[in-house]
Amino acid sequence: MIKNIFIKIKDEEDGAVIVIVAILMVVFLSLLAITLDVGSAYLETGDLQKAADAAVYSAGRLLPVQQTDTAAINGIKDSAINYAELNGYSGLTYDKIVLGNIVNGNYTAIKVTADKSVNMTFARIFGVNTINITRSAKAMLSPKNKMTGLTPIGMLKSDFDAMIQSGNTKHVVLKYGKGGGVNGFFGALDLDGSKGGGASNYSLWIAHGYPGEVTLGDVLLYENGNMVGPTFEGFSERYNSCTHYGATTGGDGCTAEHFDPDCPRVAKVAVYYINSSYTAIVCGFASFVLESQTSDGYITGSFVKTLTYGGSSTGGSAGSSGDFGTYSLMLSE
Ligand SMILES: [Zn+2]
Repeated sequence: MIKNIFIKIKDEEDGAVIVIVAILMVVFLSLLAITLDVGSAYLETGDLQKAADAAVYSAGRLLPVQQTDTAAINGIKDSAINYAELNGYSGLTYDKIVLGNIVNGNYTAIKVTADKSVNMTFARIFGVNTINITRSAKAMLSPKNKMTGLTPIGMLKSDFDAMIQSGNTKHVVLKYGKGGGVNGFFGALDLDGSKGGGASNYSLWIAHGYPGEVTLGDVLLYENGNMVGPTFEGFSERYNSCTHYGATTGGDGCTAEHFDPDCPRVAKVAVYYINSSYTAIVCGFASFVLESQTSDGYITGSFVKTLTYGGSSTGGSAGSSGDFGTYSLMLSE
């Protein structure tokens, strides 16, 4: 009798253990299934982010674009789709590419949203066939706070502001010649901030740009004298170095209407204000497509907003303080 009771208890224990093991197996296999599927989705998420980043960073190089320029807007969207595809993502469409941060009628930022449904393998057992993943990336123009390759031409901030306000941004006199200028200043700056070097430095910088870095707040000296000869030589060399838009086959080359941002004809100039001790303090950087010069020292060019390489940016968005139309591209999300 006593022996029978013991056998019964043992049988019941065995049954309970089998049930517990069965439940644990189900829980364990479920966790394994979820872990494997979530893991593969996570890997896909990384790839998707990479494709979104590449799309905005590559297409963003075409910023800024005018709000009304449909061809340019489609061009930038096509570029984003193309770079997403090159990075393994073929699901990008126009409606997932949004241009934004409008400054003076120009888009200065691009955002891309990439989404994808990832097929599940094990989670199908529980009725989950796919999960959707979404990644986005944004790139924006940010005003320069440091610049390399400047030409030794300066523009007074009050002149720059007046130019923007009047809307007369084409064929602007950047450097005055004989009889021009104010108080004997012809618009040329000594970019290395140290006296000496004179005409030879100046001519090199007109032709090839100043190799050093100029930062917001730097104090620059005025270049003494009119520098007519060195200006003429340096300008000719720079102007004739354009290789774009048919320049080498008798065409116009770069103009304010169409230009390569890295063309030597796109001259980067320091915008400055004068402090109480009559020194020039750099407060921004602007770009002009050079157009003409006269043999007596005048240079004219047209103002353009452009992305340039070299230097660095303030990290602020376009339109924030210190924006004189020359930018770096930065990923902002
Ligand atoms: Zn060019």
